[in-house]
Amino acid sequence: MGLEVVRGDITRFPAEAIVNAANKYLEHGGGVAYAIAKAAAGNPREYIRISKKAMREQVGKDFIEHGEVVVTPGMRLEEYGIRYVIHTVGPYCGGVWDDEKKEKLRKAILGALRKAEELGVKSIAFPAVSAGIYGCPLEEVVKTFREVVEEFEREAKGLEKVYLVLYSEGDYKRALRVVRM
Ligand code: ADP
Repeated sequence: MGLEVVRGDITRFPAEAIVNAANKYLEHGGGVAYAIAKAAAGNPREYIRISKKAMREQVGKDFIEHGEVVVTPGMRLEEYGIRYVIHTVGPYCGGVWDDEKKEKLRKAILGALRKAEELGVKSIAFPAVSAGIYGCPLEEVVKTFREVVEEFEREAKGLEKVYLVLYSEGDYKRALRVVRM
């Protein structure tokens, strides 16, 4: 299986499931969450409404913890072969990285991978969860992805491809250096 680092826009990345770096309330106010909301539903407000409804139905609460995920349908993203969006919440770092942040990120990634297995998809694409507005160091985020995907390989059944999609050329190059280390 392995982790494949690619450069691109996750809102049009042809994986059967894509992951959203959401906040715990699924408000999708900025960053990749806003981009997904706009691309999937046209209207971000409508997408927030759909996400919150799905959250109540799937986890029975108005927020999610690290490791809990919510699934919404691909909607307009189906055009690119994206069937599901898996919303997960990573840690807020604000530039600080420690074992607690790492564990929260590990849970967020693992929760999405397990849900992808449950949905029966063969491919999943992640953005660099927590490496944007949440301010976690990109290198540490990429390292954590690599470790969690390696760990997950032992329990993976149907999932064949895991992509880490970096939006900017600079982030892509930095991420490549980490996975090649
Ligand atoms: P967080 O709040 O978890 O840090 P952000 O949305 O701020 O989430 O950023 C997560 C990562 O997603 C950042 O590296 C950002 O550059 C990246 N990103 C933003 N838009 C896109 C996109 N359309 N496709 C892929 N990655 C994106």
